[in-house]
Amino acid sequence: MPADPLIILRVAVDAPVPTVFDYLPAIDRTGNPPAPGMRVLVPFGRSRRLGMILEVAARTEQDPDRLKPVDSLLDPTPLLGAADLAFILWAARYYHHAPGEALFGALPARLRRPSLPPLESGTPGWCLTPEGRAGVAGLTRAPKQALVARLLAASDTGLSSAELKRRLGDCHGALRALAARGWVEPCRIASVPRTGGRAAAAGPELDPHQRRAVDSVRDAFGGFRAFLLEGVTGSGKTEVYIRLLQRLLAAGRQALLLVPEIGLTPQLLQRLTERLDTPMVTLHSALSAGERERAWRCAAAGEATLVLGTRSAVFVPLPRLGLILVDEEHDLSFKQQDGFRYSARDLAVRRAQQARCPVVLGSATPSLETLHNAHSGRYTRLELPRRAGGALPPELLTLDIRAQPLRAGLSPVLLRLMREELEQGNQVLLFLNRRGFAPVLTCHTCGWVSECPRCDARLTLHLATERLWCHHCGWTRALPGACPDCKGLDLRPLGWGTERLEAELRDLFPDTSLARIDRDSTRRKGELERLLGAARRGEIPLLLGTQMLAKGHHFPGVTLVGILELDQGLYGADFRAPERMAQLVVQVAGRAGRARRPGRVVLQTRHPDHPLLLGLQRQGYPAFAATALEERRQAALPPFSHQALMRAESQDAQAASKFLERAAGEATAVAAKGVAVLGPIPAPMERRGGRHRAHLLAQSDLRPDLQAFLTAWLTRVRALKGGSRVRWSLDTDPQEML
Ligand code: ADP
Ligand code: ZN
Ligand code: ZN
Repeated sequence: MPADPLIILRVAVDAPVPTVFDYLPAIDRTGNPPAPGMRVLVPFGRSRRLGMILEVAARTEQDPDRLKPVDSLLDPTPLLGAADLAFILWAARYYHHAPGEALFGALPARLRRPSLPPLESGTPGWCLTPEGRAGVAGLTRAPKQALVARLLAASDTGLSSAELKRRLGDCHGALRALAARGWVEPCRIASVPRTGGRAAAAGPELDPHQRRAVDSVRDAFGGFRAFLLEGVTGSGKTEVYIRLLQRLLAAGRQALLLVPEIGLTPQLLQRLTERLDTPMVTLHSALSAGERERAWRCAAAGEATLVLGTRSAVFVPLPRLGLILVDEEHDLSFKQQDGFRYSARDLAVRRAQQARCPVVLGSATPSLETLHNAHSGRYTRLELPRRAGGALPPELLTLDIRAQPLRAGLSPVLLRLMREELEQGNQVLLFLNRRGFAPVLTCHTCGWVSECPRCDARLTLHLATERLWCHHCGWTRALPGACPDCKGLDLRPLGWGTERLEAELRDLFPDTSLARIDRDSTRRKGELERLLGAARRGEIPLLLGTQMLAKGHHFPGVTLVGILELDQGLYGADFRAPERMAQLVVQVAGRAGRARRPGRVVLQTRHPDHPLLLGLQRQGYPAFAATALEERRQAALPPFSHQALMRAESQDAQAASKFLERAAGEATAVAAKGVAVLGPIPAPMERRGGRHRAHLLAQSDLRPDLQAFLTAWLTRVRALKGGSRVRWSLDTDPQEML
């Protein structure tokens, strides 16, 4: 008797292991045959783990008699298609992350828990049977039933119970009667809400630059091409996205729009809703696990044609993907900073390449990486050099505050300008990128300063909650009544945070209403939207806030922006500090004068002659970026070279750096050409959250050289013994050297 043909399941297990494993099919083989993209529960070591089938093969390198069968198959149909699997596995290889963890990290969290039954897609509802459809017209004697049946007959798909109730009130009895006749039956209704807009809702007439941008991308539909859409703030980038989406969605394709944070830009959501008529889902961290899974399934099933999402949405399966847009592509939130450290922006380009569709990276302040790609011709550059609707660009002034008497951190000139604008009924925005009352509390008697016991960092004073907080590890304590060292009572805050600035401004401008917008003041749900709405409508003359205010908002009435204390950016330890500072200045400045009134931006500094500031002021971001790129080229820093950062941390003061020394030794043994390994050195904040931290940097001019080195090196590093007291990780293309 011939033996059964061998069936081998190649499985990526949800565990921190770099390899995949072979299993036999489940012993109980009723139900669907296993296929790639389905989840399985497998015996793994002494426990059970989730796995994803990557391949159904006929042979194995192992001894088939020693392979274990999977416990059970969890999905009736594949969750991920071949293209999705290939894309995520590519990302796992590129970032040297465990394939199983990458795959399960890309799924909605509910699907990472084997015990939870998968959600049925759609919401419960009712539809007509063919008999019902035939009988509707004759239903004359039961008015409620007739009403229900006619409403159902008018919809192709049936209606959800909630929708029926909303339209007709309680119609339970009628539905029961119709069901008894066999005219209606329960069904699931696709739950993708359509955006409410009329497809034809006309936007403004495009200016020639916008038109050229739309035409170029549209001409590229159907094939891969990467674009940089470089448009000054308020130049109408969003308008370009909307036109492209209208075209693409009308052709029946799906689009993915990635944004840094959805909560920070309620306006974008609103504009999409008003201008598009399409089933849309959003994917972001504020959704409940159930909502997330539903949205994900709608996208994967092709029911949602537009997906608006943050970072992790880059992995959502989209069977008819035709366009990817990445808004504010320079934003750091596209980089995942722990676990699977991917860049959603970079992966978006890779994904477009795989799906053979265009990708548009939009920004007023493109990252130097993206600019470099545009210069080298890998990306097509589209420029929107002017503000839409004839608004004037803001004027940037630097204000030397050395030896100036400051009130609330504000120089006399800035205060005078603020008064003038407010008196004319204009809005003023102050930007201070530090929340809390003061960055440190000191004892005037003995010099004690509030330090975090777990980090090399100061504790921030938060007066509203009467606590000291560490912004790095979250450690907190109640505000001490007296100095912990000398018991002296003269404790003083040092420096300025937004909370303190707000208090002082209320003194300085007692008759002006003002709003502080930062993470502390907007914790309550809906509060941010409320404040932003009021600010946009001009109801709050004086605005102050952090980073949160810098992103994508449009405040037509703001004519003056004051930027306080950005000098750290000029001399930061990280070689990207100046780039980040320039982006922040330009983005904050972009909030001003977007309507008819011109805007002014005042940057307070103690280094008015710094060449980067001068360049930014006189020639704007493109000139700044050109200078900064040239500096990077001369120093052979990214984007002119490629880096991977190995981080290690340990409770023991020495263990992390000792481990990295051994890792550096392994690097020498690999002896890769064209790769330099630098360090180990202590991390900029050597101790954080009670752990000691060290870095080791690998750098190469050529990406393939670096990749080949990393693969060989990591195999050896993983085999190092005695590293159990050390946590280590690898960050490919690191964005922050923290
Ligand atoms: P960005 O995304 O570049 O900041 P937006 O698309 O938000 O710019 O446009 C800024 C403002 O200008 C919006 O109020 C928008 O409605 C308006 N706008 C955009 N394009 C045009 C145009 N061609 N003509 C007139 N107004 C426009
Ligand atoms: Zn003291
Ligand atoms: Zn701390």
